[in-house]
Amino acid sequence: MGLVSGKEILQKANKGGYAVGAFNFVNMEVLDAILSAAQDENAPVIVAASEGAIKYAGFETIVALATTGAAARKIPIALHLDHGKDMKLIEKCIKGGFTSVMIDASHAPFNENVETTKKVVEMARPKGISVEAELGRLTGVEDHVSVAERDAVLVNPAEAESFAKQTGIDSLAPAIGTSHGAFKFKGEAKLDIERLAKVKKATQLPLVLHGASSLPEEIVGLVAKFGGKLDGAHGVPDSELQKTIAGGINKVNVDTDLRLAFLGGLRRVLLEQKEEIDLRKVLGPAKEMVYKAVRSRIKVLGCSGKA
Ligand SMILES: [Zn+2]
Repeated sequence: MGLVSGKEILQKANKGGYAVGAFNFVNMEVLDAILSAAQDENAPVIVAASEGAIKYAGFETIVALATTGAAARKIPIALHLDHGKDMKLIEKCIKGGFTSVMIDASHAPFNENVETTKKVVEMARPKGISVEAELGRLTGVEDHVSVAERDAVLVNPAEAESFAKQTGIDSLAPAIGTSHGAFKFKGEAKLDIERLAKVKKATQLPLVLHGASSLPEEIVGLVAKFGGKLDGAHGVPDSELQKTIAGGINKVNVDTDLRLAFLGGLRRVLLEQKEEIDLRKVLGPAKEMVYKAVRSRIKVLGCSGKA
């Protein structure tokens, strides 16, 4: 089918009230597992590369992997730049084959975030490439946190409305209490669904949840069983994830879950088959673990059969 614009995938999800997975990759194995899983679920999918992934694998390699992978499948697939901060790299992505970019200027004051994001929209719009921006800080918020502390880090719905109008973005990542990585919360996840619903009402945009890995017990357990150290790992439970989708989330970013799935498969082979030297047999089971994890995520998000 070839790569499609992220906008096309997310506008449909916004209308249909479901979420699409955006899965990070840094190599061929993970990318192939994501695309095969999405194809087998007949689901639209977004494959995401961070600035670090581009540095690791090489710009041309990332684009070529996604482009050839998409051409071989019959589902809508977008190639997205995750957390773009370097304007030169964002421009390179827009000109060089990405179909969606994120500008992350959320660390800057509001007006500066508006100005930077506007520049990216101006570059991307003529090429039909979608732009995601972020408001608030991605930091785990727990039960005991006060209202004032919460307001200081989470998205402000009125600001979100003004931001969307001023910048013309295609999708927005509002901070509602999730954080990146494997150690998201010390206690239970406490996501601000009410705030999310207000942002949705104010902007009507496709909304994006970062830091949304679920850290399933079977994967964390596998990694731990074969020597990994993940004490205290804690993700967003599926029930909570589904509440955010009901509240307006249309793109759910998943990175940590796939890293751990790959690692679990890899650790098992390395410890159980110490004489194996065929890389296909070492990496193959890791790839299979990622495939299963992606299928499981897609089912939870509700986008199976939406391709
Ligand atoms: Zn993120």
